[in-house]
Amino acid sequence: MGKIRVRFAPSPTGPLHIGGARSALFNYLLARQQGGTFILRSEDTDLERSSLESERNIIDSLRWLGITWDEGLEVGGEYGPYRQTERLPLYQEYAQKLLTNGQAYYCYCTEEELENERKSLVERGENPRYLGKCRALTLAERQAFERAGRKPTIRFRVPDKQTVVVNDLVRGQVSFESETIGDFVIVKSDGIPTYNYAVVIDDALMKITHVIRGEEHLSNTPRQILLYEALGLPKPEFAHVSLILGKDRSKMSKRHGATSIVAYQEAGYLPEALINFLVLLGWAPPGENEIFSLDELIQVFSLDRVAKNPAVFDLEKLKWLNGHYIRQSSLDRITNLAIPFLKQAGLVEEPITPEKYAWLKLVVEAVRDRLGALSEIVEHVKIFIHDEISLESDEAREVLREEQVPVVLELFKSKLAAMDRLDVESSKVLLKQLTKETKLGGKKVYMPIRVALTGQTHGTDLYYLFPILGRDRCLKRLTYCQKHYLTLE
Ligand code: GLU
Repeated sequence: MGKIRVRFAPSPTGPLHIGGARSALFNYLLARQQGGTFILRSEDTDLERSSLESERNIIDSLRWLGITWDEGLEVGGEYGPYRQTERLPLYQEYAQKLLTNGQAYYCYCTEEELENERKSLVERGENPRYLGKCRALTLAERQAFERAGRKPTIRFRVPDKQTVVVNDLVRGQVSFESETIGDFVIVKSDGIPTYNYAVVIDDALMKITHVIRGEEHLSNTPRQILLYEALGLPKPEFAHVSLILGKDRSKMSKRHGATSIVAYQEAGYLPEALINFLVLLGWAPPGENEIFSLDELIQVFSLDRVAKNPAVFDLEKLKWLNGHYIRQSSLDRITNLAIPFLKQAGLVEEPITPEKYAWLKLVVEAVRDRLGALSEIVEHVKIFIHDEISLESDEAREVLREEQVPVVLELFKSKLAAMDRLDVESSKVLLKQLTKETKLGGKKVYMPIRVALTGQTHGTDLYYLFPILGRDRCLKRLTYCQKHYLTLE
């Protein structure tokens, strides 16, 4: 077999979504693994809904994910153009061939006539399909319609009584009866090809060897196979990847959360986390390990481990993976990615001086183990910035009622006041001294300090918290706590 040629062919009618990105990824992985070619083509024949803005978004999201293509939009190639609206003469040419051979015909039915036909079929409990009214029009009938100003569509003449078998690489053999399909439109009355037709011409002319796409296209495949056969063009292999469902097991939609890649990018997910997450939506790794980089996936990915049953979108899993990659990344990378979130929340202002940057980096170091998405950093940082501490829970109030608290806080204050360098190391030393001198267990010392400084009973390690707040702010909060909370009964 020659080198594989695969493609991702989105309709630019909206941003790149999870399902599309997964199809792109699977195609990309196979191409890279087998030294093949990956092509990006825009299927923009829905003139009303397609836009260059959506195409831009799709390209940007793919690039952000690290998915690159060898031919197609922006990079060119010998089988271009790669936008369907720029390929109209090609579709006309092949449509003419089909018309000449009698494998296609002009149809003059109006929308209304078609709608009535559809309705009566549905009422009879049958598959809505075209029953072939214009299949055998005479020249005179056609001319009469033309004179009446009707603009025809071109319909493909679906062969009678044929079983069309899709040999799907994921699903095995799936059979369809041609009777249930009905002659379908390949070119609309405005000269624009339909999806099922244009996709065949393009996949054939671009020498695509494997079509890997979402399961929602499985029912289109018999139509496409019939077109390949009618045109005498070689068929690609097909692989239909299962649907992505929400947690309630209905088809993934906006109701289940964000569906676009850019929304996840903007919420502070890392591209490597999304790649890892996307591949697990339908592909089962060979062993226990679930963590894979793009390069590792190129080595281990295979279609025979792609599942037939639907994948369930689990946001918690994405957060878990993202947390993993956040912890793996350099502090500088995460700090730089976190800054826009903090700026947007009004917690950090320009200019980011070296001192401010060093502080932010310490903050990231202190909280990053607890981040699922980078946007969550805002909640963690608020506590370092707003000085009016309120006690978050009864548990926090309980802590401050313990008898040792006034002594602990007073000792902590005096030691703190005497320090001129408060960094992670000196904070660790300070904490040790406190337990030693009070002869109290760690919890009895650390808890009240934590509550006094943050109002919370959980959070950042104290040896990060002290230098993040700085000496003066710690003292201020301690005094505030003594004044407002220790005097209360
Ligand atoms: N334009 C189609 C879509 O976005 C492509 C389907 C295919 O890959 O054939 O769903």
